[in-house]
Amino acid sequence: MNEKNGYVYLIGAGPGDPGLLTVKAERVLHEVDVILYDNLVSAELVGQFDALKIYTGKRKDKHHFEQDAINEEIVSHARQGRKVARLKGGDPYVFGRGGEEIAFLRKHGIEYEIIPGITAAHGASAYTEIPLTIRHVSSSVAFCTGHPLDKIHVPDADTIVYYMVASSASDVAKTLIKKGKEEKTKVAIVQNATRYNQKVFAGTLGELKNRDKKVVSPALLILGENITEFIEDYWFGKKKRVLMAGEGEDRYEKGEYVIVRYPCNNFRDIDRGIIRQRIDDPAAEMMLLFPDKYAVRCFCTYLSENSIDIRDFNNAALCPAGTDASAELLKHGMLPDLCLDACTSEDIVREMMELGITGETVVIPCSGFINEDLVNKLTALKNSVALLDVPVEGTFEKGEKIDLDFIDEIFFASPACAEKFRRHYKTIPEKITVTTADTKTRAVYKKLFNP
Ligand code: SAH
Repeated sequence: MNEKNGYVYLIGAGPGDPGLLTVKAERVLHEVDVILYDNLVSAELVGQFDALKIYTGKRKDKHHFEQDAINEEIVSHARQGRKVARLKGGDPYVFGRGGEEIAFLRKHGIEYEIIPGITAAHGASAYTEIPLTIRHVSSSVAFCTGHPLDKIHVPDADTIVYYMVASSASDVAKTLIKKGKEEKTKVAIVQNATRYNQKVFAGTLGELKNRDKKVVSPALLILGENITEFIEDYWFGKKKRVLMAGEGEDRYEKGEYVIVRYPCNNFRDIDRGIIRQRIDDPAAEMMLLFPDKYAVRCFCTYLSENSIDIRDFNNAALCPAGTDASAELLKHGMLPDLCLDACTSEDIVREMMELGITGETVVIPCSGFINEDLVNKLTALKNSVALLDVPVEGTFEKGEKIDLDFIDEIFFASPACAEKFRRHYKTIPEKITVTTADTKTRAVYKKLFNP
């Protein structure tokens, strides 16, 4: 592949509501080969795109990917001639370390462009109806970081938005008071702005100082007289939240509801049955297909978590696609049986067709995201495809848990969706209305949840 063809887009994904992605960003995300995304970007948003998705989230407690490793990762994909999207929460140039990533690309001579996003302050402002400027009240705005505490600035601006305050909101309040802000200064804390679980606390610095309630991340703090404008029944808070288990959105008037997706794809997510059956039957054959190096990591995690020896798979052909995946297999002491050159699902399928691989049992290790296109194409070649879905830290994101406290209605599209939901949620709070696609689904829901 030509080294020069790689291209990187540094993209802002907006503050959470997937609808706040720009039209340009959406177009580009449909075109790229790889999406490297941060923990502020929701699985729902990236789930709409076909590219290989790699989660590079850094969390305070557990550093999944260090910044240097992320930089290297971006460059390594670009070097292989891929179009790479580096997707960040909000805007990449507002507390997003976008500058560092671009400097790294420049140093390595990789071409790039930057697509801005809606920053959290703007999202929070619009979705809580707190204007950042008001004629005659506040005529200047500053964006600051609330972390670390000893570096907090109090610029001379009418409205100040502090990012990164979640774990220390009351400490931030104390610091601001110490630095000269009056206790009666108005503040608002906005958690999960623009998302279904958005929550607002509005009060004064003095009240916040003594508030020991935990602030959930991500959250920001807005300070200034503009908070006076805050009303409890802001437009976004009034929208009904519907959790969709499966497809069926067309039943709900667009824009009237906040739709929360609970992913229920048509594939069985863990088909360990097939795997076990194969291991127990030494005569059985199967092909383990690794579309990328992350699939190898998922597979290794699966082996170690279940205390399975690779030699149990003595009739399985190990098929990595691309050099990264075969290198990863070798790193774990496994010699590939068949190396495919291809990386994209289209090329993988074409190569397999050329090799006459049909009617096989193909097992694909993955984590969370399922390349539906690949599965469909392999199935069309009369292979029976099973997914070995293993949640692996530090590669792909694990399924996010939905906080049912914020949900008004749940819709089950099929019995399978209700069953999958039951695996994650044992009960459904009484205040939630449950609707189903048909009577069969209703019957299954009733059996599972005993409403
Ligand atoms: N580049 C991002 C900011 C990254 S720093 C942007 O432009 O928005 C991370 C901080 O952003 C979080 O600690 C929080 O203060 C803020 N943030 C991001 N998304 C948020 C959201 N949905 N609600 C509230 N704060 C958010």
